Amino acid sequence: MSFIHFVRDSWLTASYYTGLSRLYHALAGRKRGIISYHNVLPISSLPPFDTYNVDVTAAVFDRQLAFLKKHFRVLPIQELENPDAKGLFLTVDDGMLNNYEILAPILKEHGLSALFAICPAMVDGEVPHIWRDHVFLLLHRAQGQEVWLPIDHYRKPFKVAGNSLSINHLTREVKKYVYENQVADIYGLVREICEQNKGAYSPILHDPLRYQFMNWSQIQDLTKRGHRVASHTMTHRILKFLPEDEKQYELVESKKRLENQLNIPVDVLVYPYGSMAEIDQATVNAAKEAGYQTALMNVRHHLLLEPSLTVPRFAFPPVADAAHLHTIVSGYKFLFR
Ligand SMILES: [Zn+2]
Repeated sequence: MSFIHFVRDSWLTASYYTGLSRLYHALAGRKRGIISYHNVLPISSLPPFDTYNVDVTAAVFDRQLAFLKKHFRVLPIQELENPDAKGLFLTVDDGMLNNYEILAPILKEHGLSALFAICPAMVDGEVPHIWRDHVFLLLHRAQGQEVWLPIDHYRKPFKVAGNSLSINHLTREVKKYVYENQVADIYGLVREICEQNKGAYSPILHDPLRYQFMNWSQIQDLTKRGHRVASHTMTHRILKFLPEDEKQYELVESKKRLENQLNIPVDVLVYPYGSMAEIDQATVNAAKEAGYQTALMNVRHHLLLEPSLTVPRFAFPPVADAAHLHTIVSGYKFLFR
């Protein structure tokens, strides 16, 4: 941990135990809040990969829920659109198998419900992996070998060292390339990387709980147990980079396919990534045009219009420390940013 982090964490802890952050909560009173989760994994410590920075262990998730129930009110997800419902809501993105096998049973133990954001094209196997996971899996498989990557236009191979450092670094470099070049056809890029490395563009078997998607009957089962389903677009591309017709395809087709498969109306959208780097006003307008009533972002503050289609969310780091978590839910941690 860096010194600055150490100072910040000590300060947050002190704020909690001296009652400062709790006082802030009582005064400012976060009336509503939406927490975003991704993967809950059945291991005691997470592997040191960047791809896991949206992951939490089952033990920590369990303790975070216990913390939330003790200090705040976690509301049934059915109340999400009710403006008078004051409390916290839980959402889970991407629809990986762990959501059904590990996460949902822990929610059940706590008597809680959540909104699951699903990409139908992933469920139907039209795309092997979310692109960033695919890049990570390709690099992970290539440990100790050389790979050709678009970051230098395939000019020279990169040696993938047998440690997480190199894999994290190269995954991040590819991500940087995608954002700098505003790549719309991101799966075309993954396909190209596969071709350049003489490999098939197909699923890579590695930790199914983390990299395999739920199937339709599992998702349907969640809806029968009081959970809800939102569209997370068809293929988890970066909406801001897409031309208008492809944006509409991602938004309209995913809604349609979820409704057909699950026999329920789907009018909530969870933007993939969900920050200002991926969403602009044109994206919000497209979501409105596609018929969504509610759309969730992944930031607390933004400059976009249409409040119901730019609802903020926040995430927890993978820790169970009550002091730290309290400063996040109360918003105290972000006061001085
Ligand atoms: Zn996502």
